Amino acid sequence: MGLFEGKRGMIFGLANKNSIAWGISQALASEGAELGFSYAGEVLKKRVEPLVASIGSTFVEECDVTDEAAIDALFSKVAAHFGTIDFLVHSIAFAPREELGGRFVNTSREGFRIALDVSCYSLVALAKRAYPLMPNGGAMVAMTYYGAEKVTPNYNVMGVAKAALEATVRYLAWDLGQNQIRVNAISAGPIKTLAASGVSGFRKSLSYVGSVAPMGNVDQDDIGDAARYLLSDWSRKVTGEVLYVDGGFNIMGAPDPSADDKE
Ligand code: NAD
Repeated sequence: MGLFEGKRGMIFGLANKNSIAWGISQALASEGAELGFSYAGEVLKKRVEPLVASIGSTFVEECDVTDEAAIDALFSKVAAHFGTIDFLVHSIAFAPREELGGRFVNTSREGFRIALDVSCYSLVALAKRAYPLMPNGGAMVAMTYYGAEKVTPNYNVMGVAKAALEATVRYLAWDLGQNQIRVNAISAGPIKTLAASGVSGFRKSLSYVGSVAPMGNVDQDDIGDAARYLLSDWSRKVTGEVLYVDGGFNIMGAPDPSADDKE
């Protein structure tokens, strides 16, 4: 019997087969989870629907997470379809492309607002509607990056949004603990996806991380397996944490100029 047999949950942030959300979905579906999906907009529909169908899911609905009425409408459908749910995956981020490169000091007020709204506040907005559907407790997971903690060139305002997201995870974990709901984040190493390719110099940092991280680069399946742990009873007392799944990159500290001389 699979780890998620009899469990139901919602996945936010599936765009295509390269999405981290897809790695997580496959890991959960392989353990018997029943999954519902929400995607950002009409243009993604033709990519998302076949993926969702391939793992036997029938609930797939569009929802822009910046639109309060759209989130309410979505969760009415979630409640009607599933009744109750056991978990939620938040795998969503966005900042205007011009904010993800160049000098951080030039970050615009509007770019900052959008990045924080889509990439951070949306977790609160989704949690607010999801927790009443988790009367028996549950688990939520959001996706973050090392740029929340240390300066990562070009990541800019997204690093600020991820720092806020990590703090949001802790506050939600504290608040929703009274409902027996755990909230954690996964800090993923760089992976080539649609969102990642919006960050200037992404390919360079992908190969840099791969060359210095003790376990090398990670992929969508590595994140899927970590999500399987954080969303299952195996992590039943773990909450408010950031779990690094980055091949050990975060333990490296500042770049070592002698790294190139290693034998
Ligand atoms: P992706 O492009 O596949 O996923 C990002 C998703 O966010 C897309 O599905 C997009 O449609 C969705 N989204 C954007 N604006 C939205 C809105 N207004 N409403 C609803 N959905 C919206 O890329 P990904 O790399 O799989 O990103 C998933 C998460 O993982 C993000 O939070 C990202 O910051 C995080 N992350 C990615 C990496 C990486 O290197 N790829 C590393 C660490 C963390």
